[in-house]
Amino acid sequence: MSDQIKIVQKEGITLVVSGPSGVGKNSVITALRERYNDIRHSVSVTTRAPRAGEIDGVHYYFRTKDEFERLIAEGEILEYDIYCDEYYGTPKSPLERMRDEGINVLLDLTVTGALSLKNSYPNAVLVFLIPPSEAALKERLFHRATESEEVIQTRMEEAWEEMNSAFEFDYLVMNDDLLQAVRDIEAIYWAEKHRTSRLFIDGTQ
Ligand code: 5GP
Repeated sequence: MSDQIKIVQKEGITLVVSGPSGVGKNSVITALRERYNDIRHSVSVTTRAPRAGEIDGVHYYFRTKDEFERLIAEGEILEYDIYCDEYYGTPKSPLERMRDEGINVLLDLTVTGALSLKNSYPNAVLVFLIPPSEAALKERLFHRATESEEVIQTRMEEAWEEMNSAFEFDYLVMNDDLLQAVRDIEAIYWAEKHRTSRLFIDGTQ
């Protein structure tokens, strides 16, 4: 045995945070990104229009429906979903490259997208965020003030439907207090960093 033993991560962690619309996924993910500079962001492809300040290739790759469908046909999209009549998908090659280079990646996906990614990447770590109450979810959807009451009602029904998928995920985290939810996900991330299946020991003979 040599003097120095090193634990080396042979494969990057693919950490997926998901949950029903209005659960507060965005705030949790933004907070995680601020705290960890060793987690890379996977830039998704979408057909929705860019919002003010959003840059192509940074926030999303903004593409037309035809272009998106071509990417699907070419096998370049690992998983995709339709949300508010727009396509959202994860490009395959960059994610595979990062995983193979041992880079940890954080993804923000719809519930359907997260479960579909797990089919291709059984090692992906899936975290499901749940709201503390139906009222809290409704309040968040109302606060966005971007949707009519009818749309909010449909979203609420969809959200409740999505809750049925929670136990297909690896971890369940409640987003009652933002800081606590972030701490819970940090703990999951740290534990996953020590999972033997992703590691090897360098320095033993
Ligand atoms: P937004 O339009 O607010 O940026 O995102 C809308 C929804 O799309 C969010 O719930 C987000 O989680 C989801 N989303 C973003 N990128 C992807 C992706 O690549 N695949 C899937 N399945 N969902 C995504």
